[in-house]
Parts: sequence; C-alpha cells; structure tokens
Amino acid sequence: MTHAIELQDLHKRFGQNEVLKGIDLTVDPGQVVCVIGPSGSGKSTLLRCVNLLEQPTKGKVYVQGVELTDRDVDIDAVRRHIGMVFQQFNLFPHMTALQNVMIAQQRVLKRSKTDAEVIARENLDKVGVSDKCDSLPGQLSGGQQQRVAIARALAMNPDLMLFDEPTSALDPELVGDVLTVMRKLAEEGMTMLVVTHEMGFARQVADRVVFMDGGVVVEDGVPAQVIGDPQHERTRTFLHRVL
Ligand code: ADP
Ligand code: MG
Repeated sequence: MTHAIELQDLHKRFGQNEVLKGIDLTVDPGQVVCVIGPSGSGKSTLLRCVNLLEQPTKGKVYVQGVELTDRDVDIDAVRRHIGMVFQQFNLFPHMTALQNVMIAQQRVLKRSKTDAEVIARENLDKVGVSDKCDSLPGQLSGGQQQRVAIARALAMNPDLMLFDEPTSALDPELVGDVLTVMRKLAEEGMTMLVVTHEMGFARQVADRVVFMDGGVVVEDGVPAQVIGDPQHERTRTFLHRVL
C-alpha cells in the first residue's frame, strides 16, 4: 500500500541550527497521527516540510507515492491535495466567512462562483458555522474563525490534512468545538497529521502518537503506549508537564 505521507531521513537546518535530525515517519490513508513534543522540538518545521513550505536540507518527502523533494515535481499540483490549518487562522480580514471559503476554490481550482458558493456553504455547515456566512473574521470568536479555516481547507477536497496546533490560540472554552469538528473528520476517514498539545484528543482519536524532542522522533506508537506507558525518560518528563 502507498503511504499517504512518508518522510525518509528528513533533515532541516536553519544556518547552524539543525532543527530536524533525520526523521522517519509514515501516515497511512485514513490514519490520524498526532505529533507531540516540547516547544522548539521541530514539530512545525516537520509539518511545513510535508508540503514543502520549508525545503528539507536532506532526505525525502513522499505524498501519496509522489516524491515532493524531486526537482521535477509540480509542487503546486501536489499541494492542492493537502489541506493545512494553522494555529493563527490566517483568514482574510476584509472578506466574509463565505468569501474566505470561496476564494481559493475560484482562484486555484477555477470553480465557478456558483459552484464555489454551494461548496462553501456545505462546508461551513459541516463545521457548524452556517449562521456566520456573512460575518467578517473580526466578528467571530477564535473557535468560529478556526472552524471557518477548516471549512476553507475542506472546500478544496484535500486528500490529507495537516493541523499545526489548531487549538493553541483559543480560549479554553472554545477548544472543544474545534476538536469536535476534527474528531468528526477523523471518523469520516480523513488522513490527518496533527501537531497538538491536546492529550485527550490524541488518546481518543489518534491511531498513532509520535513524540518528538530535539529534532528526532523519540517514540512512535499507539496512544496507549506512547501516552499511557512511555518507554523513554524524555517522553515521561514531557507528559508530566502537560498532563
Ligand atoms: P515547534 O513547532 O516544535 O515549537 P519549530 O519547528 O517551530 O518547533 O522550531 C524549531 C526550531 O527551529 C526553533 O529553534 C526555531 O527557532 C527554529 N526555526 C523555525 N523556523 C525557522 C526559520 N524560518 N528560520 C530560522 N529558524 C527557524
Ligand atoms: Mg510549532
């Protein structure tokens, strides 16, 4: 079977700072893999290497069997299949929720305005903000903005979704709504690579949990193992701090 994502000996260096020191990681179709680890351990850099927002210094990135690190690959074409959701929602502030979900469909996928609007409304409904179509981001709570950002990604029909701490910028009472949407997506079979500090989510939803520290994968296994019965001291120390 072709992996949805495969990272082979991935290295990334910023100047003298080697942030990723040889990461091997796979995500299979339909799997949810959560990446946990201390701040600065390279989690965001790892995620950004999957769609080549960062160019790896060494190693290979495959998405659905296509080597992205191959010079000849059409990276824009591959990126179209990858949805990404960031900690900061990155919505256009001067556009309504509906327009935010329509714009890339029209510009990138060349969908008609009518089609883009139908698909935008479907996805805003799916994430539970159909009553906010005409609101500007500034009129929405953080949780609502993040759900619009998820709808925007889903409207592009991605084959896989990358999430980088999607709930870290939210007030605690708004985290649950976003996690509920993510859980629903997982249940529908979406392939997801999720950087998160939400251990409850990781335990319940992830097929695997990957603990990173200092630019390496320290542990990779089922949640009951990595979170429930960690084998490495570094994992135990981290979990003591966050749990
Ligand atoms: P995490 O997401 O686990 O907190 P990051 O991947 O954001 O970690 O960062 C890991 C390290 O890489 C940090 O030391 C950070 O300063 C460095 N880093 C990340 N992005 C850049 C960049 N664009 N330029 C220089 N250094 C960077
Ligand atoms: Mg990060």
